[in-house]
Amino acid sequence: MKVLVTGGCGYIGSHTILELLKNDMEVIIVDSLINSKKDVIDKIKKITGKDVTFYEIDLCDKEKLRTIFEKEKFDSVIHFAGLKAVGESVEKPLMYYENNLISTINLLDLMKEYNVKKIVFSSSATVYGNPQSLPIKEDFPLSTTNPYGTTKLMIETILKDLYKSDNSFDITILRYFNPIGADKSGLLGEDPNGIPNNLMPYIVRVAVGKLPILNIFGDDYNTVDGTGVRDYIHVCDLADGHVLALKNKKTGLKIYNLGTGKGTSVLELVNTFEHVNNVKVNRQIAPRRDGDIDACYASNELAKQELGFNPKYTIEDMCRDSYNFVKNN
Ligand code: NAD
Ligand code: UDP
Repeated sequence: MKVLVTGGCGYIGSHTILELLKNDMEVIIVDSLINSKKDVIDKIKKITGKDVTFYEIDLCDKEKLRTIFEKEKFDSVIHFAGLKAVGESVEKPLMYYENNLISTINLLDLMKEYNVKKIVFSSSATVYGNPQSLPIKEDFPLSTTNPYGTTKLMIETILKDLYKSDNSFDITILRYFNPIGADKSGLLGEDPNGIPNNLMPYIVRVAVGKLPILNIFGDDYNTVDGTGVRDYIHVCDLADGHVLALKNKKTGLKIYNLGTGKGTSVLELVNTFEHVNNVKVNRQIAPRRDGDIDACYASNELAKQELGFNPKYTIEDMCRDSYNFVKNN
């Protein structure tokens, strides 16, 4: 199978490409490098010993994107490309709507024109808003609290409408919970610009002394120890979920949660990180962060049943591999 991977130089895309190559799939990457670096391509080649084709193109430029459809004959698309910083999306909503929506519409329109009908889309648990109960199932009500989340929900709606209009499309929407961790090689990982928003990149930077102290946002949530609970999933398990989605026999429009089904609190994560890496993470309790919810974790039963999804990495593995990447880089 030949797969077009949009956003393939990014964190989740690059790890997924390792799995695709291991499964003998052929990979074409398109990425604008707005949030990644080209050296990821060499690292992928170094880890796998296999070649990938790379195009530096912004998906918002439809005519440039068309050149790839003209030149390469691929069977399916995994669509990772998009901007993903919640805070930035609140400050620059138009940039988020333009980048995430126009790119996707261009891509889908060309897929229709060139008769490429299979797509896997990166959605997020953020589309569940503040869930009514836990664990979160795929049929729970959807709502969003920021422009980033709204772009994900809008793209899900676009995909559903597209499928209604043309049911020869084969669409999988994957709702990721909290991906962390990195490939064992230590060559690929999450490397956000500036001060990280997300917990694990922040913890790691405090551990290596790049940031002075971790602020734990709130210790009065209704959770096991008062700190926020999330469903952290190793990025390599997440990557595996994409290969399973491509191989899925079930066609049509499918939606799956990709999480481990287990909640971990901020304190549990920080303490595990210190323990497995034998390193100190300075921390202090800070006020709650606007918009945060007490707890969020997935029911992954549907993905288990229909995809054979079976996440195998522990929180310990995630902490070790996240630290290993940043120490190496
Ligand atoms: P990332 O920023 O590391 O990767 C996204 C890639 O897309 C980057 O390489 C970027 O340069 C590229 N890109 C962005 N806009 C583009 C455009 N218009 N044209 C071409 N390339 C473009 O992010 P990630 O963590 O790998 O996330 C991948 C996808 O998964 C995103 O859609 C993100 O919203 C979604 N997601 C991520 C998380 C997470 O916590 N990381 C959680 C849920 C969903
Ligand atoms: N968090 C924290 N300090 C940080 C970043 C995050 O205490 O510097 C907490 C946050 O309040 C939440 C959890 O860590 O309870 C996960 O936050 P993240 O931003 O990584 O993911 P999301 O909130 O998007 O699920």
